[in-house]
Amino acid sequence: MSGLVIGRANRPCDRLHDQSQAATSPKVLQALILRKEGCRKEAGRVRGKPHLNIQISDLINKVREVFIETLDELQWMDGTSKEKARDKVSLEQLSCLVSLDQLTPPPDQDTGKAGKAHLDPGPELPLMAWIKKVLHALSIKEQIGYPDYILEDQNDKLDQESASLNFSEEKYFENILEILKATAQKSLKKLREPVDPDAWIIGAAVADAFYSPNRNQIVFPAGILQPPFFSKQQPQALNFGGIGMVIGHEITHGFDDNGRNFDKDGNMFDWWSNFSAMHFKDQSRCMVYQYGNYTWDLAGGQNVSGVITLGENIADNGGVRQAYKAYLKWVERHGKEPRLPGLDLTHKQLFFLNFAQVIF
Ligand SMILES: [Zn+2]
Repeated sequence: MSGLVIGRANRPCDRLHDQSQAATSPKVLQALILRKEGCRKEAGRVRGKPHLNIQISDLINKVREVFIETLDELQWMDGTSKEKARDKVSLEQLSCLVSLDQLTPPPDQDTGKAGKAHLDPGPELPLMAWIKKVLHALSIKEQIGYPDYILEDQNDKLDQESASLNFSEEKYFENILEILKATAQKSLKKLREPVDPDAWIIGAAVADAFYSPNRNQIVFPAGILQPPFFSKQQPQALNFGGIGMVIGHEITHGFDDNGRNFDKDGNMFDWWSNFSAMHFKDQSRCMVYQYGNYTWDLAGGQNVSGVITLGENIADNGGVRQAYKAYLKWVERHGKEPRLPGLDLTHKQLFFLNFAQVIF
């Protein structure tokens, strides 16, 4: 398993601009060698994809909803910029989306048991108008698990990815050169071609998550959809503190010092008002200062660069805040989860325990 997983196994990852940028890191190069086997193996572990996709998609919607609500609380952003930010994450039609919450009603006040299932499409809208709204609701796109073609027997798309590579068991260095060459050629071929918004930018076996600013897309490969990040068997406190935080982290990348330069369609475009941009930079300075002052004894007392790590720090702070608020809302609707036996911790504590576990 560990040989097939790349990236920091317990760390949600950095923003990713496109496949060519990802493919230049040594870890990704190594992964490319193992990609075919890894993709299929990891995908095989998460069979039953439709149900898993619904669960993760539902979590994404919950975090997105909180992101939009939090926008309203911001003092430093003006109404015009908030409207654009809302468009980029696009949740104004969220109430029309059918979520698991709507399929699973809140517990009965007296008995505490789940009520009768119902399907509520939200506000009263004619069916077609509702479907239309749902289809247009998601500005920020999501990819979950793996592309379907990797498990299709008749589809050779995955085989084609490595068709031009000529590997040797004894020549590791030459193998790397082969990959570098193939990656460069693949990247150059994309020049002048329109962006494929549906292309998968990373393999299924990667235990990491991504935001692509020029696609306005968040990606959660199969590799990260497992404990401690997520499991349908573990308490929701752990899921929200794990994959929930990662979801918030990736969404927030769309609004960090890099992602904020792209609009809802992934085009580089300055949609910020002068007022909001000025205050964004002003607020960012606090975080630059805060993180720039953390030192690490094992590194001889050196400190990180608050400027270079700004995007990740903005994403971490935004992610944990959104996920925690989303969990509190979940508890409000579903009731408190029973405590874990033998563990003297509340679920709020468990949320932050899992957050700490996955963040480093
Ligand atoms: Zn990140």
